[in-house]
Amino acid sequence: REGRRPLIAGNWKMHMTHLEAIGLVQKLVFSLTEQELDAAEVVVLPPFTALRSVQTLVNGDQLAIGYGAQDLSANDSGAYTGEVSGAMLAALACGFVVVGHSERRALHGEDDATVAAKVRAALRHGLTPILCVGEGLDVRRAGQHVPHTTAQLDAALEGLDAGQVEQVVVAYEPVWAIGTGEVATPDDAQEVCAALRSRLDGRFGAATAAVVRILYGGSVKAANTAGILAGPDVDGALVGGASLDADEFARICRTA
Ligand code: PEP
Repeated sequence: REGRRPLIAGNWKMHMTHLEAIGLVQKLVFSLTEQELDAAEVVVLPPFTALRSVQTLVNGDQLAIGYGAQDLSANDSGAYTGEVSGAMLAALACGFVVVGHSERRALHGEDDATVAAKVRAALRHGLTPILCVGEGLDVRRAGQHVPHTTAQLDAALEGLDAGQVEQVVVAYEPVWAIGTGEVATPDDAQEVCAALRSRLDGRFGAATAAVVRILYGGSVKAANTAGILAGPDVDGALVGGASLDADEFARICRTA
């Protein structure tokens, strides 16, 4: 994968109090060697309420992992009760933020315009957006998964320049594979990741397409990681359920 460092990101979803988060990060980091943490970039994405604790632990002990949030507001401040801004996440030294996760799209009505605004908000504050795209089962059955996901990519990156797009991580997460135990085949993952990269090439140029990391997400476990990551356009994984178990997540990171 031509110099793109593999990225393994753990989306904890709505799990882990701040105290549990500290325990999980400690267990994770101490089960990986320095060499393993160097070979792959390891990132945890706890709930907002645990970010301060994770920051204190990671930065205080200079642990070689990254962290970030699962969502952010498209707005920078104001009367948006319950929302958290990119500025607030940047102040906690977050490196990453998930944008457009399928659960946000499905359960919180986030459309392409909202997702695009959130990508911009992340970039404004120096956060790396992990932009999620992916088709539902009906779209997959109709054989429309490539046009569907490339259209989501286009919409989310609308109006950005190549330099901005190079700051983005893309995650291909077929909705039918998220939390279902049903994992895409390595060929399915590679097909869509390659199509997304080719789309980036067409719109932003080959140099940009060559540096953007494209992850696969959807029921990734240690046992299927090697197969998924064998695809030359698959640069890592966004891991949900399996990231809550330190030993299992460490095995995934080690495989990468
Ligand atoms: C996710 O939430 O991004 C995800 C891929 O979940 P899981 O690994 O549990 O399917």
